[in-house]
Amino acid sequence: MGKHALLKQILEEGQVGERFTARGWLRSHRGSKAVSFLVLYDGSTMKTLQAVLPTDTPGYEEVAHQLTTGASVVVEGVLVESPGKGQRVELKADKVAVLGVADADTYPLQKKGHSMEFLRSIAHLRARTNVFGAVFRVRATLAQATHRFFGDRGFHYVHTPIITASDCEGAGEMFEVKATSTKDHFFGRQAMLTVSGQLNAEALAYGLGQVYTFGPTFRAENSNTSRHLAEFWMIEPEAAFYDIHDDMDLAEAYLKALITAVFEHNADDIDFLGKFVDKQLVQTLESTRDQTFERITYTDAVDILTKAKREWEFPVSWGIDLQSEHERFLAEEHFKRPVMITAYPKEIKAFYMFNNDDDKTVAALDVLVPRIGEIIGGSQREHRLDRLESRITADGMALEDYSWYLDLNRFGAVPHAGFGLGFERAVMFCTGMTNIRDVVPFPRSVGQAAF
Ligand code: ATP
Ligand code: MN
Repeated sequence: MGKHALLKQILEEGQVGERFTARGWLRSHRGSKAVSFLVLYDGSTMKTLQAVLPTDTPGYEEVAHQLTTGASVVVEGVLVESPGKGQRVELKADKVAVLGVADADTYPLQKKGHSMEFLRSIAHLRARTNVFGAVFRVRATLAQATHRFFGDRGFHYVHTPIITASDCEGAGEMFEVKATSTKDHFFGRQAMLTVSGQLNAEALAYGLGQVYTFGPTFRAENSNTSRHLAEFWMIEPEAAFYDIHDDMDLAEAYLKALITAVFEHNADDIDFLGKFVDKQLVQTLESTRDQTFERITYTDAVDILTKAKREWEFPVSWGIDLQSEHERFLAEEHFKRPVMITAYPKEIKAFYMFNNDDDKTVAALDVLVPRIGEIIGGSQREHRLDRLESRITADGMALEDYSWYLDLNRFGAVPHAGFGLGFERAVMFCTGMTNIRDVVPFPRSVGQAAF
């Protein structure tokens, strides 16, 4: 028996002459009369291990017909230098067993080059493809890198509720939560799935200083766009004693840290995605990592957009909410780098944002990146109780409904700020994938909750 190891370890660290037992699935199999070439993957890496098996190996005859794409196998042998290009070593095998067959007539992932639409219809099997293996490995890296980035900076990871009774955010349509067995409200009042953990995170930041959430978020987005899901993940840092400039510094450093982590841990995946999904991927990521982000005000942005020689689907004037076409133009074409926009008209932003001295704008922050548009939305929060109360009243909302939130700034208020990063948008950005349904294993969006 050889040493059991993940293919990643065998391929990167295995010594020539060492004996290994390799376990995985067949990416492909081709044979000649004398030898059989088995190409194995196991998910640990984009790379495959080639096992070369003489056809006179005892037991080979019996399993030969089962060695088809998708079958799971165990192969034993000795590691040798590979004469083939692009691989350091291969396995000179002398033993093979099939664990699970994958019938060539019915296994749907026979050939390469399936459309994303087709693969979405078999989301339970698509993790077995090269593309989705790469995307989900990058996704895992981004999650780990998020915890490392904030942990290293003294941000405490906190958990905020998924079920909530307040629509404080007004961030969009919500989903209601009901018990199947009771007609009355289970929680004594109407309850919903959270659209953001921000208000709770603010409460925690006033005790813990710097916190971040990383959790599922739900919005009943009724439009079928390639950038919106009904269930997505959001990372929301919140820091006491931060102003809008600290917030921008944090957002820029965080995005750069994500990219650095992907290059460090997923070089093979990025290489593959850059070849087959988005030819510009490496360049876009490198320039985002290496260039300073542009920082402009909303008023500057409107200026640039009105002067641009462009037919906008949504006409631009001071006061409008920027649309995807505007956001992408600024990041992709005008500045050709990420852009951070601040000082938005208060009418189009939430009540909790810090009022600027001009009394027209608030200290909102949107971060726009090429190909995606908005990836982060945030702000410095209004911590001056009188301003907060008058804004809530001006928006036609009742102060009683916000009593606990107002309490936060009734006692020990300090300037503070935070933001929300849409995790799937970050995965799209780092993989070159163009549809948000293809960066989450089992997407939930309007009309779709299969698997
Ligand atoms: P958009 O204008 O793109 O709909 P938003 O302004 O409504 O986004 P925010 O409330 O600012 O979004 O949420 C913070 C971040 O969460 C956004 O910048 C985006 O990256 C992400 N996000 C928001 N809605 C969705 C969604 N439905 N699916 C996936 N990610 C989302
Ligand atoms: Mn936003």
